[in-house]
Amino acid sequence: MKNSALVVVDMLYDFIDGSLACQNADNAVKETLRFIDSQTKGQGGEEHEILDTFPILFIRDHHPADHSSFKEQGGIWPPHCVAGTHGGEIHEELKPYVCEELTFDKGCDKSVEQYSGFEGVNNAGQSLGEILELLDTTDVYVCGIATEYCVRNTCEDLLKAGFKVRLLKDCIAYVDHEGHVKALEEMRQEGIGIE
Ligand SMILES: [Zn+2]
Repeated sequence: MKNSALVVVDMLYDFIDGSLACQNADNAVKETLRFIDSQTKGQGGEEHEILDTFPILFIRDHHPADHSSFKEQGGIWPPHCVAGTHGGEIHEELKPYVCEELTFDKGCDKSVEQYSGFEGVNNAGQSLGEILELLDTTDVYVCGIATEYCVRNTCEDLLKAGFKVRLLKDCIAYVDHEGHVKALEEMRQEGIGIE
């Protein structure tokens, strides 16, 4: 457990009940809270003490208002997760576990689409991979939104970087159910644990 961490991908309001609301999102948030509880049970104390023993890292899609992935700019998505808006915020029930150094933003550059949380950086400019190494993490649990895009890309990059990846199947939401099932099967074949 000492060497495990949880990466929460894009559990942001636009993906939960906003412009790009995904299926199973409310449930995924609830199950994520339950998972966090199960990993930290009996430790009591303040939230920061929990973070010392079981780091929880948050990925945020974090776009400028004219991001290239938006339809008006020729992209495929409706505007979402614009920096500074409610839609770009982490679900409030997860907020007690959020700390700045362990929050990684991606998609901040207007011209670059970034699905992978692995490309995110914290406010000190450190990448997710760098921080996981500093924490001596070997096993990474992943949950979040959406299975077929940001969750999958994050899992695959973590695997490539040498981490043991364990995707929490009850704690993910998706754009399309068929795409979700297909992505899970393909990730399983790639060596990502589906739990
Ligand atoms: Zn985005």
